[in-house]
Amino acid sequence: MSNDKLSLFNTLTGSVEPVRTIEDGKLRFYSCGPTVYSYAHIGNFRSFLTADLIVRTARALGWEVDYVTNVTDVGHLTDDDLADASGEDRMAKALKSDEGRRFANVYDLARYYTEVLLDDWHSLNLIEPTVRPRATEHIRQQIEAVEHLVEQGIAYETEKGVYFDISRFPDYGKLSGNRDAENLEQAVRDVVQDEEKRNARDFALWKKDPGHLMQWYSPWGWGFPGWHIECSVMSMEYLGEQIDIHAGGEDLIFPHHECEIAQSESISRKTFANHWVHTRFLQVEGEKMSKSKGNFFTVRDLIATPDEGGRGVDPMALRLALISGQYRKPYNFTFETLKASMKHVERLRSAFETARGGLDAADGPDRVGDRLADLRSSMLAAMLDDLNTPSAIAAAIEGAKLIQGLGENLNASSARSALDFLQSASSLLGIPYHDQEAEDPSASASHDPLETRVEELLRQRATARESKDFERADQIREELDEMGIEVMDGPGGSSWRRKTEI
Ligand code: AMP
Ligand code: ZN
Repeated sequence: MSNDKLSLFNTLTGSVEPVRTIEDGKLRFYSCGPTVYSYAHIGNFRSFLTADLIVRTARALGWEVDYVTNVTDVGHLTDDDLADASGEDRMAKALKSDEGRRFANVYDLARYYTEVLLDDWHSLNLIEPTVRPRATEHIRQQIEAVEHLVEQGIAYETEKGVYFDISRFPDYGKLSGNRDAENLEQAVRDVVQDEEKRNARDFALWKKDPGHLMQWYSPWGWGFPGWHIECSVMSMEYLGEQIDIHAGGEDLIFPHHECEIAQSESISRKTFANHWVHTRFLQVEGEKMSKSKGNFFTVRDLIATPDEGGRGVDPMALRLALISGQYRKPYNFTFETLKASMKHVERLRSAFETARGGLDAADGPDRVGDRLADLRSSMLAAMLDDLNTPSAIAAAIEGAKLIQGLGENLNASSARSALDFLQSASSLLGIPYHDQEAEDPSASASHDPLETRVEELLRQRATARESKDFERADQIREELDEMGIEVMDGPGGSSWRRKTEI
């Protein structure tokens, strides 16, 4: 199996490159998740959707995917854009806001916004990650990583915290290009809060703060971890020292990802992530989203019913709108795009109904199979070409039109080809047509790790069978058998059950 079919722009090298996974047929992927101090907005979700599309495309190639995306619930400060960890913790600030006052404490607030995040995640049919770790559940590992850096002489302690000494990591700046950052240095001097720092650009690994709302005991006394160390630690914990792709929004290139590289590579002495993928920021009607301009939308602002104070937008129309522009291009969200996406979703659903209706028709020559196979190839080729979603969506819609126009040629074999095509479009773009329940991860993809693993293996087996790799398909069946899972193959696909339940 070739592993270099998926090409993505790599911020590290500045060019579109094939993703050559460390292990053949397996993708190790980390995507930075949200800070749960408020409702996630549609810009956040555009970044999460890029990650989702990477997973879907990798699966379409038959790759196994280990997909980790975190929840940040401590340490992300309001003025973190200079890597100096200054300002107030976003979680603590949120608790003091009008909206935050209804929570008893900062942990309740984090729990609430995490639940809302998961609801929105499911509404927009995003794939469940293999693991969704929380920063506050990995404090021990973060302290150990900082201790290790201190022992190596790469980090040092001051009265106010522990800092990473960037002079000990000559590659600092390799991702963002902030190598000779005179301007940055000046900017940091203007805000720097710790005169004991060796270099103004050194960044915080641990903040001493006995007054902070969330604090833990460490070798440096009471305090909390810097924001960047959490992702280094959680990525290494769940995916190993080296991964294939690390992703996030473009604002994370510096300082967050630059600092993650410095920390992780200083600990492991190996390349941390081979591919760095960043999503360009979403704007709304040509402007930066902001609450004061009234153009700021959370997912629920749009998809909640008017009774609930929302706009009643179909979640799948919102999903399609948010992926209608390629992740790397400036993206302007408009209500026009949303309307056009709604029409596309309706067309796909109606093509699906047409095809389903045709299954009961008499058999006859397949009038669309070849053309749909070409369109299916174009759709996948577009996604493999740096996630060219506009082309992939165009191919899906062309296929849907072809199916809708079948008329008298709608016979059982054309219908089967049509359903195959629509199924591929659905799993690649993440737009289910009917049975929302069957496709909706909140209903089907459980949070039980065994079920998630079984579903993943069944998907891989289906892909192996499609590409006539029966040896691999049998291996997977055996693996499932050893897990106590029986697979049942039927005309509508494969299902499974636990053997003990028989
Ligand atoms: P945060 O909750 O601020 O930690 O952000 C979560 C993710 O959303 C990060 O990957 C950010 O880079 C990304 N993000 C924030 N704002 C936008 C936006 N307007 N467009 C696209 N991605 C964004
Ligand atoms: Zn991160």
